[in-house]
Amino acid sequence: LPPRPDLDLAALVRTIPDFPKPGISFRDITTLIGDAAGFAESVRRLCDRAAIHRPDLIVAVEARGFLFGAAMATAMGLGLVPVRKAGKLPGMTIGVDYELEYGVDRLELHEGAVLPGHRVVLIDDLLATGGTILATAQLMRSAGAEVAAALFVIDLPDLGGSARLAAAGLACETLIG
Ligand code: AMP
Repeated sequence: LPPRPDLDLAALVRTIPDFPKPGISFRDITTLIGDAAGFAESVRRLCDRAAIHRPDLIVAVEARGFLFGAAMATAMGLGLVPVRKAGKLPGMTIGVDYELEYGVDRLELHEGAVLPGHRVVLIDDLLATGGTILATAQLMRSAGAEVAAALFVIDLPDLGGSARLAAAGLACETLIG
C-alpha cells in the first residue's frame, strides 16, 4: 500500500470503558489493525523510527506487541524475538519478575535468542506505567544486548511511563499520544 502520511491513526483506535475492570479505559488496537491502510501505515511509521536505531533484531512483548513487531521484522528484513509471559516458551529461559498494581508478574526470554552485543528495538502496542517495557529492557541487559529504543503505537502519558523511561535512560517513541 502507498504511504499515507496524512492518515489519522488515533481515529482508528477504539476506547472501551471499564475493560477489563471498572475504571480502566482500554485502548483497543483491533480496529486499527483491521483497517488495511491503518495497519500498513502504523507499521511503516514504526519501521521508519526503528530504522534510525539500526537494530540487529526486533524484540516484541506478548501479546499485542507481537502483531506490530512481526510485521516490522519482515518489512525490515530482521529476526523477531518474542518476550513472553511465564511458562509459555518451550526452551531454556531467563526471566524477570516485575511489579503490577496488585502483585507481581514474570516475563521470559529464550536463552540465546539475543546475544551479547546485539542492538535491539523493543515493541509493544501501548505504554502505560512503563513497568512491562522496563522489565523487558532488564531482560535484554541480562542477556548482554543493548536496547537502542522502545517503540509504542500508543502512549498514555498520564500514567507516567514516558517519564519513567526517560529517568531510566531508555529512549522511547510513540505514534499516538
Ligand atoms: P505498563 O506496563 O503499565 O506500561 O502497561 C503496558 C502493557 O499493558 C502493554 O502490554 C499494554 O498492552 C497493556 N495495557 C496497559 N494499559 C492498557 C490500556 N489502557 N489499554 C490497553 N492496553 C493496556
